[in-house]
Amino acid sequence: MPQAELQIGKMDWQGEDARLTALAATGILDSAPEPSFDAITRLTAEYFKADTVLLDFADESRVWIKSYWGEPVRELPRKQSVFEMVLAEDGPVVVPDVSKHPDIAGDRLTIRRLEVASFASAPVRSGEGSILGTLTVLGCQPRRGMAVEELRMLESLAEIVTSQLELRRMRKTFLNYCARHTHPAETVAGMWPSKSDLRRALDKRQFVLYYQPEVELSTRRIVGLEALIRWQHPERGLIPPMDFIPVAEETGLILPIGDWGLSEACSQIRRWSRENPDCAAPRVCVNLSASQFAREGLADHVEALLRQSGVSSRLLGLEMTESSLISDHGTALEVLGSLRRLGVSLRMDDFGTGYSSLNHLHSLPFDVLKIDRSFVMRMTGGDQPLQIVRTIVELARVLGMDVVAEGIETHEQYSLLRQLGCRFGQGFLFSPPVPAEAIREMLHLPGRILPSLEVCEAAPAGAAS
Ligand code: C2E
Ligand code: MG
Ligand code: MG
Repeated sequence: MPQAELQIGKMDWQGEDARLTALAATGILDSAPEPSFDAITRLTAEYFKADTVLLDFADESRVWIKSYWGEPVRELPRKQSVFEMVLAEDGPVVVPDVSKHPDIAGDRLTIRRLEVASFASAPVRSGEGSILGTLTVLGCQPRRGMAVEELRMLESLAEIVTSQLELRRMRKTFLNYCARHTHPAETVAGMWPSKSDLRRALDKRQFVLYYQPEVELSTRRIVGLEALIRWQHPERGLIPPMDFIPVAEETGLILPIGDWGLSEACSQIRRWSRENPDCAAPRVCVNLSASQFAREGLADHVEALLRQSGVSSRLLGLEMTESSLISDHGTALEVLGSLRRLGVSLRMDDFGTGYSSLNHLHSLPFDVLKIDRSFVMRMTGGDQPLQIVRTIVELARVLGMDVVAEGIETHEQYSLLRQLGCRFGQGFLFSPPVPAEAIREMLHLPGRILPSLEVCEAAPAGAAS
């Protein structure tokens, strides 16, 4: 077993410089972590039957937790951290009983605040070998030590992180190249927002989620919520998604923004569940962009988010438009299948606007179909749109799917949709998208039934596109 020695103060400055340069090249500290990191910490926890597993990266002064399993842990000071021990050892460190360790027994390790009794930690290296962080298994009880093959396993798991970082670095270089060569939005003067505007907004936590109720048409009972992102800009006010999502998609920033949205929605579900312990929280549906859908490990990422936030998969829905499904039907089927197996509701958004809707619908595991607002809008103006809506409702019934009509604004649309047998709907007639606090009040209404059907004349700024 490697002996852990704290060598704080004996800093190898040259090595540290190379280490920080390698760390910066991965970009890991200023962007969202790979979804695969959660899969790795989960796998590690399962293998070692650990209470907590941390994957962290250290800059000059702090250790940044980028994925964890079990106990949530915040960023820690680097001084006297496990990372320092691994760096000093230049290899893995195993401490089977913290209370007997000469350097730690005096409460010198910050992780002791977690009442850790034992741990084992392997270095996560850059491609060139610099130690960037650690993969650490923590236990609340002392353990027997660690067999050689177990230690090897921990090191291999840390090596998988290294290969993910390398892939990330390559992807980043490629995206930078694409942004420079194919996306004029970045360079054309006067175009707003730019990639760096969005980056800053993300760092300054200026994005917010608004929620629009989805109701059962026969009762006006709230059965779900759609999470719709807005940008709370300090000077420009509340910016609707269509003004920045396309740039986020073009520049690749939709991935960290989308990750934020998913995780914020899960936290909000948990808050509502805690406020209303006697009543199930409504399902919250989050919109996914094409690149989020195409990213490897989406189902693992969603699963990890649900687990970390302690939210049941039944309370989460994902909305995708047909065009955001990757063209490779087999892969789309596989990804949707793994999401469905998690128990997440899958919704085809803006149905009717794509080209091959009817061809694919029967073979993809969507459970809800959302009729695009443009059909609802035109429904009262002529026979053809009405017929289209009738067909969509009937088709969904045959396929065993629920139908949600989007953009219901008038009583006439409302009653026609009910006559056509459409069970669910959302629209300004019931409520525009509103902040979470306003939803909290709605959730306290008796039976969660929205009281009146007055058209919302004064929808809040940014309520709709
Ligand atoms: P969507 O998913 O089809 O969302 C429905 C849009 O219709 C929302 O616009 C909503 O405010 C608006 N709407 C709802 N009821 C009515 C109505 O009665 N009348 C009218 N005129 N509009 C209504 P919003 O919030 O501006 O979002 C536009 C689109 O932006 C969304 O369309 C969705 O595709 C995208 N989006 C929103 N949030 C996110 C997000 O977090 N991630 C991604 N990738 N896309 C998002
Ligand atoms: Mg949607
Ligand atoms: Mg829609």
